Amino acid sequence: GPLKQEDLENLAELGMGNGGSVMKVVHVPTGIIMAKKVVLMDAKPSVRKQILRELHITHSCNSRYIVSSFGAYILEPNICICMEYMDKGSFDGIYKRMGAIPIDMVGMVAANVLEGLVYLYDVHHIIHRDIKPSNILLNSEGEIKLCDFGVSGELINSIANTFVGTSVYMSPERIQGGQYSVESDIWSLGITLIELAHGRFPFYVDDEDDELSSKPNFDNLLGNPKHLESRDTLALPMSPASHRRSRRRSKAELSILELLQQIVREPAPRLTSSEKDEGKFPRAADEFVDACLIKEQKDRRPPADLLKYEWIEKTLTSGVDMKKWAESI
Ligand code: ATP
Ligand code: MG
Repeated sequence: GPLKQEDLENLAELGMGNGGSVMKVVHVPTGIIMAKKVVLMDAKPSVRKQILRELHITHSCNSRYIVSSFGAYILEPNICICMEYMDKGSFDGIYKRMGAIPIDMVGMVAANVLEGLVYLYDVHHIIHRDIKPSNILLNSEGEIKLCDFGVSGELINSIANTFVGTSVYMSPERIQGGQYSVESDIWSLGITLIELAHGRFPFYVDDEDDELSSKPNFDNLLGNPKHLESRDTLALPMSPASHRRSRRRSKAELSILELLQQIVREPAPRLTSSEKDEGKFPRAADEFVDACLIKEQKDRRPPADLLKYEWIEKTLTSGVDMKKWAESI
């Protein structure tokens, strides 16, 4: 039967995002452990119903690279989405706990994310739209899966002007207000891989810019919605309305906009970017990340092409023991 709020018992809080919270729950009638995401919304009831219909597509997603869905329901005024529980959590949590992720494991993340993107695009004609470490999950089987993909046009519309889909993982063409494409996801993957391999987000800021040069500061800006003023503080490109609002914005918030402008203007970050990293990563890994971070969308390769890159093929044939590594964390 359909999922019901009454059948779910909270076990633990798994995390808080900008759009809501995620709880570990047990579905009491079956004993199945799930992750329940409450998406905070202010949409009309008719829109919410449409969103629910659209979310049904996640039911038909059947891939080992995609977190499976148990269903969704309305919990006035919000929407609850119940999905497969991934017991090792997301890769942002993993690297923040244990530091930089070994490059072989980063290679596995790349390969699995590419497979997930190919599946979503080829089978369901879906573009993910929100590739970043917190949306890449791991379980103790060593499986790596994507969650939070853009299935619902209505869901995206109703939260379009919030922080969802606007992030520092956005490709240059997205920052400039261009259409999403599967290549936009590839840019986000490139940023994600550098972040995991270094155990920190690759900054674009000038050295003299103290505002953003330290990680804790950066966490504050992007991880804590309390620092953000209104729903569409980060929406780009700036509308006249957000220009007016920007006068009331704090210095910190403007720095995020400056950061996004730098993504557009500056050369793309690289896996090996300084002398001290020289020789740290295989050449094929550098080559792959460079391919993900080609600034021109039309020159960036789609996921299926990138699966054929040397680094990915080597990773997949080298028998990296993801299960053993997952169990160790
Ligand atoms: P943002 O709101 O910016 O997208 P986010 O992805 O961290 O950030 P949520 O999608 O709300 O926000 O997820 C919050 C946290 O919950 C994640 O970081 C992840 O650690 C955890 N989480 C989400 N889904 C699952 C799941 N299926 N199994 C286990 N943990 C999960
Ligand atoms: Mg998420």
